[in-house]
Amino acid sequence: MNNETILPPELSTFRRTAYRPVTAEGDADLRGSKFSGRPWLQHDEPWPLCPNCNTPQQLFVQLNLASLPPDQQKHLGDRGLLQLFYCTSSDPLCEVECEAYFPFARSVMARRIDDVSEPANTGAQGPVQPFAARRIEGWEAIDDDVPGYEELDQLGHELSPEAEQALEEAERPVTGDKLGGWPAWVQGVEYPSCPTCSTRMEVVLQIDSNDNLPYMFGDMGAGHLTCCPNHPDVLTFAWACY
Ligand SMILES: [Zn+2]
Ligand SMILES: [Zn+2]
Repeated sequence: MNNETILPPELSTFRRTAYRPVTAEGDADLRGSKFSGRPWLQHDEPWPLCPNCNTPQQLFVQLNLASLPPDQQKHLGDRGLLQLFYCTSSDPLCEVECEAYFPFARSVMARRIDDVSEPANTGAQGPVQPFAARRIEGWEAIDDDVPGYEELDQLGHELSPEAEQALEEAERPVTGDKLGGWPAWVQGVEYPSCPTCSTRMEVVLQIDSNDNLPYMFGDMGAGHLTCCPNHPDVLTFAWACY
């Protein structure tokens, strides 16, 4: 597949590589990278429950760090897992009651598991209607992801009208599910701050409505899993829509 686009030279310094997940129907093994499916859990650990409705959360994504592209491992680490659980209960409507679009919502859990060498709990009871699992079989690089005009503006770069049009035509930043790169913000630049050190958190994964997950964030919104650059265990997820 040819991902070559013609971006204005003025944006070359902002280029980052983003990676689209290459997925297939069905679950991966317990420690594999996947959207939904069965998460790796400690041998005595139950499936994570939503503290608002007390029912099992959906596994949105699990990333096996050992299988990520090397440049992503440089800041995320190269062993262990990242997991994102999210409550999709409609009665009560936890997403709204817990304001799950904001970072650090109660009905959402994002975490890192460093050691997955021990035996796992393979029998934990998950959600009654789990999403169909999609295993991540690889990552397809897009070498020229660049920020949107609002983020460029914050970075002190005033975009020429021609460059703005070129961005639009190239559909940058890249939408859809992707690892790394620049967030395709739906409502302006919204990096969460780490509650421990107040540092701006960095984007790990963009999850778009109805891409690999059969889930819509509000009205075709998009969400971002982020991590504190100083505290690898501080992870969160937030989303916005039109
Ligand atoms: Zn809930
Ligand atoms: Zn921090």
